[in-house]
Amino acid sequence: MTRGRAVVVGAGIGGLAAAAGLSSAGWDVKLFERATTLEPVGAALALAPNGLRALDAIGAGDRLRELAVPQELGIRRSSGRWLMRSSTGRMIADRFGDSIILLPRSAVIDALAARVPEGVLSLATEVVSVEPGGTAGQGGTAGQGGQTAVAHVVTSAGELDADLVVAADGIGSGTRAALFPGHPGLRYAGFTTWRLLTGPVAGRVPMAESWGRGTVFGVMPLSDGRVYCYAAAPAEPGASAGDELAELVRLFGTWHEPIPTLLAGARPRDVLRHDVAELAAPLPSFDKGRVALLGDAAHPMTPNLGQGACQALEDAAVISALAAGTDPDGVAAMLARYTADRQPRTAYVVRWSRRAATMTTWSAPPAVAFRDTLMWLLARFAPGATLRGIGTIYGWEPPAPTEAGQREA
Ligand SMILES: Cc1cc2nc3c(=O)[nH]c(=O)nc-3n(C[C@H](O)[C@H](O)[C@H](O)COP(=O)(O)OP(=O)(O)OC[C@H]3O[C@@H](n4cnc5c(N)ncnc54)[C@H](O)[C@@H]3O)c2cc1C
Repeated sequence: MTRGRAVVVGAGIGGLAAAAGLSSAGWDVKLFERATTLEPVGAALALAPNGLRALDAIGAGDRLRELAVPQELGIRRSSGRWLMRSSTGRMIADRFGDSIILLPRSAVIDALAARVPEGVLSLATEVVSVEPGGTAGQGGTAGQGGQTAVAHVVTSAGELDADLVVAADGIGSGTRAALFPGHPGLRYAGFTTWRLLTGPVAGRVPMAESWGRGTVFGVMPLSDGRVYCYAAAPAEPGASAGDELAELVRLFGTWHEPIPTLLAGARPRDVLRHDVAELAAPLPSFDKGRVALLGDAAHPMTPNLGQGACQALEDAAVISALAAGTDPDGVAAMLARYTADRQPRTAYVVRWSRRAATMTTWSAPPAVAFRDTLMWLLARFAPGATLRGIGTIYGWEPPAPTEAGQREA
């Protein structure tokens, strides 16, 4: 006996987590992914304590902790001088129970896919349209006997009705555009990013993010000796260098070690480049009718805090907990609670990520000197202050399924 029929659009981190959580909550789930495989885009992923707690709620946390390398936080100048080193990383583990960990993206996808029951996932199946259903007041139509209209989903493989639709179709979400046609959509955040895996390299590589004038280069070791590197720099939207590894060498080849050595050991085909986009305005709601937006579809953010996937996992944990106490007639009220819970929290994280992005893209020498001095002073004299700011983000706890319905925003 199932609670109702749920459709999840998109099998990225958010969609897989939602499909796993809703299945555990007793829903009959169909998960549609337009790609032919679950191959993730992006080499590795940092997960903060809040993301790990969300994974625990979905049952995938412990498997991933076994594979992870705890990261010690560090910020350096392009010369290599440390502005902040290590102690914050240890304090995070002491205070929140987990360090920030780094994993291959494929490991996260595999662990989540293993929690999705057989027969739920359909690959190579594009969702073409979603009719949200819902109550007459929400723009849907009341059905016979006072029941609210169900949602209707058209895919490349056929059509189906659903009591609940979770749209986890990513930053370019077609569902978001269809549900909120008046919304201005995405805008370019002003910088581009690169990601690559190099190595293995000899010796210990300390985790560090190095800041230049408007540019960033991050180095994070994986458990198998390889090193995940990410970089960011202002660029014209849509620009491409052709050979992106050569572009990285041009921008970062004279920075401190091990950056030049890591770049020398990389292959051009391993370098991914993506422009960063954000919403031009927050969405009025994360739900409409029987449809919830989740992950990047609802709240894309700049990657500076490493929270995009963590927030998608939180969304999935919350909607699964709410759905555990809901039957099809209660979906509209349940989704209103989902929006009330998730909208303020993710708006806070989006704002913090934006502030971090703004600070790292400063390029005027006085602003750069001010920023670097401030970081150095904070790390030396008030290391706890950095942690207090981020505590609201890392300290998140998932709702228990039974209390989810009563949870306050
Ligand atoms: C440079 C960079 C570094 C980052 N680093 C981190 C980090 O360290 N930690 C962190 O937490 N976050 C990080 N993020 C953010 C993180 O990658 C995203 O927030 C996260 O992957 C979003 O997951 P999602 O499931 O919402 O969307 P996606 O991963 O984009 O998944 C959407 C899925 O939907 C599918 N889809 C789309 N439309 C349809 C359709 N019509 N029908 C069927 N399927 C469809 C797509 O094929 C895709 O598989 C980073 C982002 C960037 C750009």
